[in-house]
Amino acid sequence: MPKAGWCDGCKAYVWVTESGGCVNGHDAAMLSGIYEAEPDRGVLEEALESAERAAERAGEATKVAWDEAKPALKDAGRTAEKAAGEFAEGLKRFGEAIAGRTPKASDPAPPPPGTPEASVGDDEKS
Ligand SMILES: [Zn+2]
Repeated sequence: MPKAGWCDGCKAYVWVTESGGCVNGHDAAMLSGIYEAEPDRGVLEEALESAERAAERAGEATKVAWDEAKPALKDAGRTAEKAAGEFAEGLKRFGEAIAGRTPKASDPAPPPPGTPEASVGDDEKS
């Protein structure tokens, strides 16, 4: 998984090279907040998936079960809303951080704040 982090030299989130330095040539000492970037899987996607799963369960449920599912559905909605809000905040900070600097396609996104734990619901017998 590619690593990214904050570079004091670039004043932006950058990809971290194999040797631990900034992809733009800055020393590793200028980097902080290094995290493993997941370019193809965002917080919003996770939130939407969990909401979708909740909706699926509600769809399969009978009318009686629907009443039981509603609180869970509401919880999923709140979680998605919170995640979306935090994601937007992160993007805003990221935008402010790179203000005055042209974003490049090679710039990674900021780390998703409060990434929800991926709940693996597979009940595979071991
Ligand atoms: Zn740099």
